[in-house]
Amino acid sequence: MKARSQPETARQRPRRLLLCLDGVPFELIAMARKRGLFARFHRPTRLLSPFPTMTNIALSLMFDESAPLGYESLYFDRRSGALAGGARKYIGRRTPDKIPSSYMRLLDYQEPLACEFLVYVAPDRVVHADFERFRRRFQQTVPGKDFFAFLKGVDGMLHICGSQALLRALEKLDQLLEEMCKREGDRTEIFLFSDHGMNLVENRRVHVRTHLERHGYRVVSRLRARRDVCIPAFGLCGYVAIYCDANEKAKIAAHMAELEGVDFSLYADGDELALVGPRGRARIRARRSDIGSASYRYEAEEDDPLELLDTARRMRQCGQLGADGYAEDATWYRWTAEHTYPDALANLYGSIFEPRVVNTADVLVSLRDGYYYGSSLFSRIVRLLATHGNALLPSSSAFLMSTHREFPPHMRIAGARWRLHGV
Ligand SMILES: [Zn+2]
Repeated sequence: MKARSQPETARQRPRRLLLCLDGVPFELIAMARKRGLFARFHRPTRLLSPFPTMTNIALSLMFDESAPLGYESLYFDRRSGALAGGARKYIGRRTPDKIPSSYMRLLDYQEPLACEFLVYVAPDRVVHADFERFRRRFQQTVPGKDFFAFLKGVDGMLHICGSQALLRALEKLDQLLEEMCKREGDRTEIFLFSDHGMNLVENRRVHVRTHLERHGYRVVSRLRARRDVCIPAFGLCGYVAIYCDANEKAKIAAHMAELEGVDFSLYADGDELALVGPRGRARIRARRSDIGSASYRYEAEEDDPLELLDTARRMRQCGQLGADGYAEDATWYRWTAEHTYPDALANLYGSIFEPRVVNTADVLVSLRDGYYYGSSLFSRIVRLLATHGNALLPSSSAFLMSTHREFPPHMRIAGARWRLHGV
């Protein structure tokens, strides 16, 4: 009798090395390729990272693993109505309570916890040590076994040293991968990718706290009264998650529109998404067909904050937008994948209505490039030369490329759900 076959793919396809470079944007990889780096790889695809453009959201979606509790390790817990997690995560070993999403269990290599902070003190040394540890660990694994490594140091380096330093570090990585390719030949397919992109401009802090206090709110770590708000402040990133009384959402979003650096705020109004910003107000409506596919409608109520009216007009001329203003998800995607706000309708609607994190914010704010919100302690220590988190093209543009195959010019991260042992 024939032995029960193993999954075919495990025997017949090449070994896979999945190498994730935290926060390296599509544009920077394109620049590196122009300089002749990563020449063995096929053309990179623009991999669209969901809003807020943060690691745990992106990787949990990409690998179809559990949603993280919040956007970062300091988060708001709805059950207790208070802030939870935080810097304690960084002390000691990575115990289960410090694992934000189950994708982390897939990793064969990630840097030691302490390096997540040390990179801000000695970026070059930490990044090079990260590369070296990864190389050694890969060499020590059983030949033929798939391997998934997450190189986190490059994100910190970009934040505080900017793109030139990162391009130099990528030269080292290119040499290392070149040696690997020579040794492994065609037997190993390398997938080099990132989780989110990054804007490459200097960013300054947005004073969310003082602004809302001026409007009579109390910024607290536990919600008790109607005018209490919780705003977790951790990494220095281009989004703000606000937790508040349901009756205050619309008012808070309107107040936020007056604050310099805010692009727009989102909140659920019934099953519609309301969007309010200094450049106008809009609504996104969604509906599902009998077979489960989604359609979206963009309703500009005041000006055109997402700059989509022109696109919608052209879609209508081509017969791709219904008389009722709805178009299929796939149609919107085709027309807006490389827009200023890529894939805006599905992406922004999903940021509030999909369980991207367990504790979704009541008001989710996207900042303009050049602005961040986060821990005031960190912001005193570092000068921020790049960041991510907002819904604009640079932060939304991660990349993916392979030594063995070519991908389409752009893809949603959730559409790249190739699994380690998949086809
Ligand atoms: Zn980052």
